[in-house]
Amino acid sequence: MSNSILVVGGGGYIGSHMVRHLAERSLPAAVLDDFSTGYRDALLGAELLEGDLGDAATLDRALGSGRFGCVMHFASFIQVGESVGQPAKYYANNVANTIALLNAMARHGVRRFIFSSSAAVYGEPERVPIPEDHPTRPVNPYGRTKLMVEELLPDYARAYGLQWAALRYFNAAGADPAGRLGERHEPETHLIPLALRACSGRLAKLTVFGEDWPTPDGTCIRDYVHVSDLCDAHLLALRHLEAGGESRAFNLGNGGGFSVRQVIDAARRVSGREPACAFAARRPGDAAVLVADATAARTVLGWKPRFDALDTIVAHAWAWEKKMAGLA
Ligand code: UDP
Repeated sequence: MSNSILVVGGGGYIGSHMVRHLAERSLPAAVLDDFSTGYRDALLGAELLEGDLGDAATLDRALGSGRFGCVMHFASFIQVGESVGQPAKYYANNVANTIALLNAMARHGVRRFIFSSSAAVYGEPERVPIPEDHPTRPVNPYGRTKLMVEELLPDYARAYGLQWAALRYFNAAGADPAGRLGERHEPETHLIPLALRACSGRLAKLTVFGEDWPTPDGTCIRDYVHVSDLCDAHLLALRHLEAGGESRAFNLGNGGGFSVRQVIDAARRVSGREPACAFAARRPGDAAVLVADATAARTVLGWKPRFDALDTIVAHAWAWEKKMAGLA
């Protein structure tokens, strides 16, 4: 029976949490990963179909098995700055390999596709909170790769019967509440893990990009959403498609924003340590405020974020950082 879920990129940050989430619910799943950026030990014993997403034979082997009814696709490169310097790398993996994956799904009649998209599809917002029908004008190649995939999904739906959901994550953060998994990007570029590395001592000093933004405290505001809540949304999106629900994009965020200073304060409170900070110029490509209007995820999917308090998100990330730093 084709009721199993193929988690592409299951060795990465959000993918590995999804694999755990499915296992906890005794839902059948397997991982496809080449470990170019993911970690084998993050699978925690889940079944692995190792291989390269760009390799048609690997995809045919996996999807031709008849086991899979859904693909959840987490395997993409995510560094905005790198995408500016190396767009070829981003278009090859995030777009061309995703097309290869969708083509293999069409060849083998695998119908359901949950895509990890991003708030980066919006670019500089005209208004916040940002609804899904806000103009999409990405300001970097990373955001464009996500939008390009979103734009071809309706064509695959019409021609091949694909049912899809594009989940536009705002700032994915936090870690497995049970402490088995967490965020492990190398190099790490995200605020919460870097602030916590400054607390643990793994980073000498956190650089804050800009204190002259048009916000109450002069630092950028973001909508941090817990990785476990993202996993809930993926499963709800699958149930929505199974029930014949509309294929579409959904924003995933808490609808509230926290400034960089507020995140640093939370890191200090949660860890009981002082993170050293230095202020620097604004980072190119940043927007002052990015906050989601996630009404559609709540009303259409029935999504209710469970870990929306910033201190909870930071506490789970701190438990993981202590482990990584050898403090736990
Ligand atoms: N940020 C920062 N210092 C860092 C990393 C990030 O000041 O070392 C800021 C960044 O400018 C943005 C916010 O923290 O305003 C969140 O950045 P992150 O890279 O975590 O996520 P993004 O919003 O870019 O997806």
